[in-house]
Amino acid sequence: MEGILPEGFAHWLIQASYFVAAILFIWGLKKMSHPRTARGGVVWAGIGMVVATVITFAEPGMHNYLLMTSAIFVGGILAWWTGKRVAMTDMPQMIALYNGMGGGSAAAIAAVELLRVHTGAGLTHDAFAARELAVLGALIGTVAFSGSLIAFAKLQGWMRKVYRFSGQQVLNGLIFLALIVLGFLLARTEFSSGAFYAFFVLALLIGILMTVPIGGADMPVVISLYNALTGLAVGFEGFVLQNPAMMIAGIVVGSAGTLLTQLMAKAMNRPISNVLFAGFGTGDDGGSGVEVTGSMKAIDPSDAAISMAYAEKVIIIPGYGMAVAQAQHKIWELTQELIKKGVKVSFAIHPVAGRMPGHMNVLLAEAGVPYDLIYDLEDINSQFANTDVALVIGANDVVNPAARKDTSSPIYGMPILDADKSRNVIVVKRGQGTGFSGIENLLFFEDNTRMCYGDAQDVAQKMIAGVKSV
Ligand code: NDP
Repeated sequence: MEGILPEGFAHWLIQASYFVAAILFIWGLKKMSHPRTARGGVVWAGIGMVVATVITFAEPGMHNYLLMTSAIFVGGILAWWTGKRVAMTDMPQMIALYNGMGGGSAAAIAAVELLRVHTGAGLTHDAFAARELAVLGALIGTVAFSGSLIAFAKLQGWMRKVYRFSGQQVLNGLIFLALIVLGFLLARTEFSSGAFYAFFVLALLIGILMTVPIGGADMPVVISLYNALTGLAVGFEGFVLQNPAMMIAGIVVGSAGTLLTQLMAKAMNRPISNVLFAGFGTGDDGGSGVEVTGSMKAIDPSDAAISMAYAEKVIIIPGYGMAVAQAQHKIWELTQELIKKGVKVSFAIHPVAGRMPGHMNVLLAEAGVPYDLIYDLEDINSQFANTDVALVIGANDVVNPAARKDTSSPIYGMPILDADKSRNVIVVKRGQGTGFSGIENLLFFEDNTRMCYGDAQDVAQKMIAGVKSV
């Protein structure tokens, strides 16, 4: 476009396009905050990304058009292919992978900028503290890159082991110290290839070392944290390149990621430091201190269906098991059958039910459950006392009363859905397996609880038949 358009106009057009892209990112994010508008939000943010990508071709000094187009083509095809194929339950690892790519890209931009200093070309823009910010972005982006790839491997089941050794924190501390020294050298002194390569190798290493000791099930929180870091790295590199769309997108991702990380940690009642350093769910956290007494009492799906069909009010609590079984469509069918019988049915969603925030909302929306039947924890907890049946579908930790009653439990203090307060509780799960935290659930041993064993989808199918037969 340079040359085709007058120089002043081209500059104006580039800046205006970046501004429009940034507005579209923010607008998209706003729409993503509600399930009803979330799909539109993704599309608007995507349009913003297209605008930002296309206008980059008009940036002065761009000449690698073939390389740029090929990268967009290959990346676009891969993203389209993987995005179409990925199962809902595999979404966390997909996010980890894409997030890693974002961090890696920010780090690569930083590396190119620092190498420009080496070749004597100087930074693309001589902005205030640009070299320092390039180094900072390089560090954060590289850590987010290698850390996210480990998170991906863990969630994908490629790395099942949790690697811990004595002196691990000390080693991490020493590497951080070395990174600070190397970063200072890169930002403030003559370029040295030794410092450059050592910096990136150590940054990759620290990302790996920080992530390998964390249990696979804590990975969504870690990914959210790395997501925030990637945003920060992109924002810094946007500053280095004087690119407003990158700056704003980076800040938006950074702050959204930080808020999400906080929200997840709060909903689990665990500080981030506990997620990063405690080895929760890996067997190192001590487990539950309470001795469970009593026994689990079984019920078959048809009897469970009858008790629901004659109920006035039923609350359904979905959890990770519903996602694994892909039972959401059957659960909605069951709900419709119950509603036909005059039963008042609501859904109760815990903020960390499943394996990523909003996991249950997305599944229920996919099945067509109307939003006005779905309630958040704080809006529904007071209703359990007037509920005839709480139907727990593949949920475990989010309904464990140990969080209220057992001060020695690792989940003590975590807000839970008070299913145990309803008159009857029916729990659908395959066997005696524990939930993500690995601790016994006191709810399963309560007098008013009945266990309906089986895969959530099969059980829901049998319950539908049971309700229809009443
Ligand atoms: P849990 O992981 O506590 O429990 C899931 C239950 O589902 C298990 O008890 C399992 O029992 C059952 N299950 C598994 N497969 C099936 C199936 N096919 N059919 C029926 N049941 C099945 O899930 P919750 O949703 O209750 O809790 C989420 C946990 O994940 C919390 O501890 C939370 O802190 C944690 N977490 C959540 C994150 C988030 O963002 N949502 C992020 C990180 C962690 P069985 O094997 O006997 O069938």
